[in-house]
Amino acid sequence: MDLLYKSTRGSGEAVTASQAILKGLSDDGGLFVPDQIPVLDKSLDELAKMSYQETAYEVMKLFLTDFTEEELKSCIAKAYDSKFDTEIIAPLAEADGAYYLELFHGATIAFKDMALSILPHLLTTSAKKNHVENEIVILTATSGDTGKAALAGFADVKGTRIIVFYPKNGVSPIQEKQMVTQKGDNTYVVGIHGNFDDAQTGVKKLFSDKELAAEMAEKGFQFSSANSINIGRLVPQIVYYVYAYARLFAEGKVAKDERINVVVPTGNFGNILAAFYAKNMGLPIDKLICASNDNKVLYDFFRTGEYDRNREFVLTTSPSMDILISSNLERLIYRIAGNDAGKNAQLMAELAGEGKYHITEDMQVQLADFYGNYATEAETTERIKELYEKVGYVIDTHTAVASVVYDKYKKETGDEKTTVIASTASPYKFTRSVMDAIDSKYDSCSDFELVDELSKISNTEVPRAIEEIRTAPVVHDHVCEKDEMKTVVKGFLGI
Ligand SMILES: *Cc1c(COP(=O)(O)O)cnc(C)c1O
Repeated sequence: MDLLYKSTRGSGEAVTASQAILKGLSDDGGLFVPDQIPVLDKSLDELAKMSYQETAYEVMKLFLTDFTEEELKSCIAKAYDSKFDTEIIAPLAEADGAYYLELFHGATIAFKDMALSILPHLLTTSAKKNHVENEIVILTATSGDTGKAALAGFADVKGTRIIVFYPKNGVSPIQEKQMVTQKGDNTYVVGIHGNFDDAQTGVKKLFSDKELAAEMAEKGFQFSSANSINIGRLVPQIVYYVYAYARLFAEGKVAKDERINVVVPTGNFGNILAAFYAKNMGLPIDKLICASNDNKVLYDFFRTGEYDRNREFVLTTSPSMDILISSNLERLIYRIAGNDAGKNAQLMAELAGEGKYHITEDMQVQLADFYGNYATEAETTERIKELYEKVGYVIDTHTAVASVVYDKYKKETGDEKTTVIASTASPYKFTRSVMDAIDSKYDSCSDFELVDELSKISNTEVPRAIEEIRTAPVVHDHVCEKDEMKTVVKGFLGI
């Protein structure tokens, strides 16, 4: 029996996994959700013996039921290969009483690679399965990491083009350099004058522009999304939680079925939702600890039951979490509303209209699995320095936010369960903030001097992704206003 996907806003028919991947977002503006969460059908003893790729197959086959075994294994093999700098793909590093799950060993040294190295293959396979002849145009808004990871994933993939919008002054210098040096004839990168939410809102508007869709279809194009709302992004992210638990078990760090806590530095709520799905598949996860930076809309939500985006947008040193509308939260809202699309649609309409909504007490009770807190800039900086000085392990700013929140959680609850902290970016991606946190003497260094200093003090090799951009020429220099995005897209496509 195929697992089917429905919209969180409900009106449309259920679609297959490959159709949901192709569409990205449902026509009614909702997100696709599986009509049930499948249960892991392999034992822990079996999982403990599996490679990352084998684990990926066991998890993904349960969600992408209309893919053949051959199709899925081929996608997995193309994604998790030598683009990663370690054969185990997602290693665990023990430091100061927690396990850091390093999700940054892929092509662009951030966790987005975990899903975006496989999405292009899932997407082109889905197109073939559904007899789509149009060229697929990936349209993405990025707060920094998604953009580069999507560009790297889709560059020169046949039958696709990719257009990335990023906030011109809202990403790190290295993130920007990574994007504007992207090779590939099918890649386009544009900085907009606005913040990430402006970019994301603009992209959503283009996706729902029926007139534009018709013009594009006439010329043989159709949009698809690589943003974290695509279930082709979400499902591959479940894999590493299963893999991490199996590794802990295999190495005797947890007993069979012993519950662990998971801490996730959160922005769009995709990564932590994947952990929630893993828990619902039967993985022994206890608390899902949601870590925010100063844009602490989720912390407030878990505390009060009110989601309110009407607040100042703060630029922090963890820019990939500078988000006021966490799109993937809608999947959780839908679920705690009892899979009631009407109720969810009403709340989302309130969010679009007044910028806020309040969930019922009944719904709030169902959030007991979650704990939310946040880290200030000072706490984040302090944590990077402290962890380095204590054990010599250097973490990036996003991971540091999670680490601070984990400490707060432990102090508040006394819960000492084995804990996995999702480490979402390499410190080499945010070198300036990381090195400044460790010692102010690095202030005067250039970006690449900092890279070499970091290599020395952390005793780690400079990642290939950084070596590559040292000398790469800038090939994308487009900048536009936020209301010019449609014109820019039409220009690129020649329509
Ligand atoms: C995208 C990103 C996050 C946030 O992940 P979500 O799935 O959007 O919650 C955290 N850290 C880094 C480094 C990221 O790139």
